[in-house]
Amino acid sequence: MKLWLLLLAVMSPVSAQAGAVMKGTNPWPNATVPYQLTADILKTAGTTSKDCTGWAKWKASAAQKACRAMDDWHRRTGVRFVAREGLGSVQIKLNASATTATVGYMPIGNQVNIEPNANYGSILHEFGHILGLMHEHQRTDRGTYLTFEPFLQDYLKTCGLGLTPVCLDVRNAFPSRETRLSSDYDPCSLMHYLAKQQPRHKEDPRWSRIYTLTAKGRAAETACLPQFAKLEKRCRKIGQKCAISERDAWTVRRFHGLA
Ligand SMILES: [Zn+2]
Repeated sequence: MKLWLLLLAVMSPVSAQAGAVMKGTNPWPNATVPYQLTADILKTAGTTSKDCTGWAKWKASAAQKACRAMDDWHRRTGVRFVAREGLGSVQIKLNASATTATVGYMPIGNQVNIEPNANYGSILHEFGHILGLMHEHQRTDRGTYLTFEPFLQDYLKTCGLGLTPVCLDVRNAFPSRETRLSSDYDPCSLMHYLAKQQPRHKEDPRWSRIYTLTAKGRAAETACLPQFAKLEKRCRKIGQKCAISERDAWTVRRFHGLA
């Protein structure tokens, strides 16, 4: 009996995987995401194709980056993306002012909005949301790894139902959320924000740094960064928007029954 327990312990992966899927989020049935590229975004690639077929040969464009992001997630997780029209399909379209996405599978209303000049990393991040991932810094255990600056803590306490742009943003992107799948915190996650958030509210310099890592946060960052050793410097830090981390990929696989 004891030998069996020992074998099981050796064979099971240590729980060193991050999980950041919010309660209430649904996985995609059959680990398959139907998608539809709208005519306006296809136009950016100068293609006559109606879906991602042949994307690697398209000109650099919002449409090409979207297709590359889906290919990247597919290769890392096994979740498939298939071109299909219909209510449940992810509508991938241009948006003049924001790059955003819905989270996980919803029977209707899944979408990715992409600004014409959005960079690849932010589009890859949005498809992480489509696959169910929440922001890593919104996990309930974040306080062990980082400390929000006092001004942001104040906003979190006082914004209530406030309708100012700052309060709307704070309520959307910073409250902690219960997870339905979680284990170790991942500072290397593609879904974690940078400490520097100046572009959110240019008028207020305090947004140039919104958190500081605790000793545990720094240790976790040091431990996870080697996976990005071959990437350029801007990618080798917490809040990187370059690549899917090992734990991001694991979480999506696990959420979809592929791990
Ligand atoms: Zn996001």
